[in-house]
Amino acid sequence: MIGMISASAQKTVKSLNAEIDQQELKSHLYFIASDEMRGRNTGTVENEIAARYIATRFSSYGVQPAPGADSYFQQVSLMKAVSPQRASLTVGDKEFALEDDMVFYTAKNGSFSGEVIYVGYGLEDDLEGLDLAGKIVAAKTGNGNPSERLTPYTIQKQQAVEKAGAVALIELFKPGRYPWQLIKYYFSGEKYSLYEGAEGDEEEAGFPSAWLLDQDGSLLSYFESLEEGTTASMNIAGQGNKVIKVPNVVGYIEGTDPKLKEEVIMITAHFDHVGVSEVEGDSIWNGARDNGIGVANMLTAAEYLANHPPKRSIAFLACNAEEKGLLGSRWYAAHPVIPLEKTVYDLNTDTGGYNDVSKVTVVGFNRTSVTDLFTKASEAFGLEAIDDPLPEENYYDRSDNVSFAAKGVPAVSFDPGYTEMNEEITKYYHQPADEPQTLDYDYLTKYSKAYIYAVSLIGNYDGEIFWTEGDKYEPAGKELYGRD
Ligand SMILES: [Zn+2]
Repeated sequence: MIGMISASAQKTVKSLNAEIDQQELKSHLYFIASDEMRGRNTGTVENEIAARYIATRFSSYGVQPAPGADSYFQQVSLMKAVSPQRASLTVGDKEFALEDDMVFYTAKNGSFSGEVIYVGYGLEDDLEGLDLAGKIVAAKTGNGNPSERLTPYTIQKQQAVEKAGAVALIELFKPGRYPWQLIKYYFSGEKYSLYEGAEGDEEEAGFPSAWLLDQDGSLLSYFESLEEGTTASMNIAGQGNKVIKVPNVVGYIEGTDPKLKEEVIMITAHFDHVGVSEVEGDSIWNGARDNGIGVANMLTAAEYLANHPPKRSIAFLACNAEEKGLLGSRWYAAHPVIPLEKTVYDLNTDTGGYNDVSKVTVVGFNRTSVTDLFTKASEAFGLEAIDDPLPEENYYDRSDNVSFAAKGVPAVSFDPGYTEMNEEITKYYHQPADEPQTLDYDYLTKYSKAYIYAVSLIGNYDGEIFWTEGDKYEPAGKELYGRD
């Protein structure tokens, strides 16, 4: 039995060496990351061309649309929000001006007034038992932990107070890690979110949610000692919400085993990037690494696996709007084309860059039961599979694999090798310099073979495929698959 497995494994390695074509891999990257694709920003024509390219490659390889789907495209519904052009806020006898002291995370046009209630950080415990109906809720940004990102808490608080009937949320921001200039820049651009509502209802969709600059902490003292019955009024104008539809691309290869083909291995990689900027000189963010490599890898895998399908079925999801907050994969996870309970694994690729061409970095290396398969797949092509060297950066929760993990599907990101954050990474990461001619194609060819071999090994695996015991996402997995 052992002999048979190793014979079939040897056959796979041999056919990968014979069939994976470096020129083909390179041509995917030279197209996807070309200047003409202008950084593939979500909502642009070039982003749609990238999606079309992936779909037409799928069709030429014999990769099918998902069972029951009539095309390769899944339309993702996004809300594109443009910040207010004019706004004012009065709290008691204090006035706040747009940009100088106030920016909006989300908003809608109109006048909003009510009694002000200060709620500390405004976390679940802080809000418990409070009557927020008709009120303007004031809170501190974040949750008190300086190393955590603030905006996820803004979203959480916003949803909680809106549900409780409040008319607006204002948060006090004290500059620390980020200066006000940067906050202003970030908040004044276009912002995207998933939109589940009906088209035409978008004008009502943005909950007024502002950050106020509290440079020296005096504003906090003011709100903490606010007299009961103090009222605030807010006026917002020139804000625009627009619903746009952008494509995810989904492909499917049926497995060879009559029973195991009901189980699906999902291959994910985002194809969007961040577009062009206003700067002088090279203004195109080509995104060859981020995430041209992932797309080229996916297409290379699609071509090979269509000819050599494993026992389990393989699905491909080229995700859109990752750079806007993992929106394409989050949409898919909420509206799966293939039922999530049949999706037994997600193997993602997303990279900002690599700095060690002897390695493969698996973000989530030890978090699922197939760690040995990553080692085996990499060794077959002279590479070493290592764990994410920068756990403090929390990369696991920052790419599309987490959209699946959060639903319980065991997931990792199988990325080109990096061992630290150094100049070799930062000179390309989200820079116009991230161009296809700067890539090491000998390495990428080996890496791609290792990746496809890993997919094949998982697709044929007769051991258990699940989370490592005690993992943060294990309970979600038990629920999804109905395990004890
Ligand atoms: Zn990326």
